[in-house]
Amino acid sequence: MAIQLLPPQLANQIAAGEVVERPASVVKELVENSLDAGATRVDIDIDKGGSKLIRIRDNGVGIPKDELALALSRHATSKVHSLDDLEAIMSFGFRGEALASISSVARLTLTSKTVEQTEAWQAFAEGSQMDVKITPAAHPQGSTIDVVDLFFNTPARRRFLKSDKTEFTHIDEWLKRIAIARCDIHFTLTHNGKLVRQYRPANTDIQHQQRLGQICGRQFAENALTVSCEHDGLSLRGYLQSPFDNVISDSSYFYVNGRLVRDRLVNHAVRQAFAEQGVEHQPGYVLMLDLDPHQVDVNVHPAKHEVRFHQSRYVHDFILQALQSALSQMVDLVSHQPAS
Ligand code: ADP
Ligand code: MG
Repeated sequence: MAIQLLPPQLANQIAAGEVVERPASVVKELVENSLDAGATRVDIDIDKGGSKLIRIRDNGVGIPKDELALALSRHATSKVHSLDDLEAIMSFGFRGEALASISSVARLTLTSKTVEQTEAWQAFAEGSQMDVKITPAAHPQGSTIDVVDLFFNTPARRRFLKSDKTEFTHIDEWLKRIAIARCDIHFTLTHNGKLVRQYRPANTDIQHQQRLGQICGRQFAENALTVSCEHDGLSLRGYLQSPFDNVISDSSYFYVNGRLVRDRLVNHAVRQAFAEQGVEHQPGYVLMLDLDPHQVDVNVHPAKHEVRFHQSRYVHDFILQALQSALSQMVDLVSHQPAS
């Protein structure tokens, strides 16, 4: 075969292989876009585990009419303009791939209105060239993205979908992870027209506790130790399961500058801090690390599940010390309690 450029739809479908694994990954990309757009409320409607419909509505800044077609094309992003931006990224998005990828493997419509516009517009890309059609629509400020018939044109992917219930569980789990890090946002999640989750915005300590309880369970929330530590531009905040909690928790969430990541570093630090107190099991935790974005590389993996710290030893030791200090306060408390 002679060398040829791939048609846009096919190129996007190939890219979709990396980021659009299942309905939950679509939800993740779209909700992250809503948060990047400054939304304070995000409503998620799912039909049939997401294989029929995924609809995300937000009240963010919206997309101007003349940028709708660009938003759907690959390598188009409003979040990064230079290598300097990429090295100090604070937004979830920066690859400019999600909307293009999703619209190449599903019927995606994007409806949006900015505060400056008096009308809303809807965009839809189709065909091998992914030509974009734009029509007038009715919509309040913000955006709605409808993703219908996911993988209808990529049967191999579609066959890998599990039952509606399993796919919905993945979506629900993923939403928990973002809802616990973003207590300021109002989220709702419906499945087949039924409201399944409602996370109301939390402003007070009690409301924060409630959200923690909704996600990690009441016992975790009631007994959790608070972690709060700052040093030299690093900050660690969050909750640690009490070492006296005998419930095995599968809640372990670690965020770096608001992004949920998998990282062995934090697991290791948690385990070590607990082992020093004679606790051998792996406790649950919700920990948020914030640091200068120049100190961490988020562009390691297309789905952005991993990061690389420039000074990983230093970060590990900081986390360990923050946990040791949270734990020692509690151990002091317990040892000073009169025996009953
Ligand atoms: P990225 O998030 O990496 O920039 P996407 O394909 O996810 O790439 O989105 C492309 C662009 O479309 C974004 O940079 C943003 O400008 C715009 N966009 C996408 N979703 C929304 C939304 N919900 N609200 C406002 N703008 C959006
Ligand atoms: Mg994005």
